[in-house]
Amino acid sequence: MYQLIDTHCHLDNPVFDNDRMIILEKCYQNGISNIVVPGITAGSWKRLLKICDANKSLFPAQGLHPLFINNHRHEDITRLEHNICNNTIVAIGEIGLDYYNKVYDRVQQIYYFENQLSLAEKYKLPVLLHVRKAHDDILNILTKYDLVGGIAHAYSGSYQQALRYISLGFKLGFGGVLTYERSTKIRTLAKELPLSSIVLETDAPDMTVSSHKGERNSPEYLIECLDALSRIRDESMDELALQTTRNAKEVLSL
Ligand SMILES: [Zn+2]
Repeated sequence: MYQLIDTHCHLDNPVFDNDRMIILEKCYQNGISNIVVPGITAGSWKRLLKICDANKSLFPAQGLHPLFINNHRHEDITRLEHNICNNTIVAIGEIGLDYYNKVYDRVQQIYYFENQLSLAEKYKLPVLLHVRKAHDDILNILTKYDLVGGIAHAYSGSYQQALRYISLGFKLGFGGVLTYERSTKIRTLAKELPLSSIVLETDAPDMTVSSHKGERNSPEYLIECLDALSRIRDESMDELALQTTRNAKEVLSL
């Protein structure tokens, strides 16, 4: 049986309220033993911690997501530090920069991103990055901090940028996109990058695998991401399961 880790899944999302325990049971049956649950807004942190506290296979992270910039308040940084000091969290996340939609103010995004990186540096915690159309800015900012590393979630940058992340102690997260034949860019990255740099994720309830297109995504489908990675790299599922879990444990100090 595999011991896979879904390194990015919003299992605290209310869309899972009715069947969260059933999903976890299906995960165990599919060899998914642990799930990292990233935080997105201060308003949802407490609920997330409570859900993770009730189930030891869930690892909580806390952070302020760049797409919820209008929800964040300056005091949330202080609250984040308080939560870091008073709870066992595995990472600061989900944090980052999203330049895809111009509605979200870049100066504000950078403000929250840098403040959270300062906490990651101070408390020696890895970070879970959300990056869209902003890899160069992110990489330049990361080099200003003495970080233990982290995961660039749903990686979609270039091969060269991936090497820069790796040199900063980061792993690259791959998930449901691998299951779509037309995702040639990301499939090529997953094939060519060193296996030691790859971790698996679902990003559920978003980014569903091809076999469940249009439906709610679920961490139990992580097994399909593993299967797709195995076909793309022409390496066995056993070997990939072992190594991606090892990578996740290493970068998150699990
Ligand atoms: Zn996410």
